[in-house]
Amino acid sequence: MNLLLLTLGTFWVQLHGVPAFCMTIIVAKAIGAILGEVLWVDNRDGTYCVGHFIRIHLRFDVTQPLIRLTPDTFPKVGERIVNFKYEYLPENCFACGKIGHLTQVCIDKYELSQGSLTPSLLAQFSSVFVDLEGGTNLRGNSIGSSAQSTLTPSPPHKTPIHSP
Ligand SMILES: [Zn+2]
Repeated sequence: MNLLLLTLGTFWVQLHGVPAFCMTIIVAKAIGAILGEVLWVDNRDGTYCVGHFIRIHLRFDVTQPLIRLTPDTFPKVGERIVNFKYEYLPENCFACGKIGHLTQVCIDKYELSQGSLTPSLLAQFSSVFVDLEGGTNLRGNSIGSSAQSTLTPSPPHKTPIHSP
């Protein structure tokens, strides 16, 4: 049995902020490699990725905190921030930013060793997954959410739905 495999998960990840003329498979693979192994790039016409963002199927280590964004330098436009949005985030933890366990489990462990959480720490933890989940598909239609809020009483931020 290969234990390493148990830490890997596959997810659809959206890349927002790539200049339109740079939305190619090559660019998608290069940026996706920051997160993990790119299994597939969602392209509809063979060369360019069609839509408001690039969408890639990725395999990565789920024991690491999710990466939120990366600065990238593009020809002619210079540096741009590319934001990552994860589709259908599974059980996730606001405290450490990782997926695969719920916040309460992590908070309990933290409090056992560190004592009770302060309100400011709690607020900091609560913001980990805000706006990290993809809210729309390539056509701008809502794809719903699987994120569960176990810590914050307020609903998670939703990406506004853009009309096509
Ligand atoms: Zn955790």
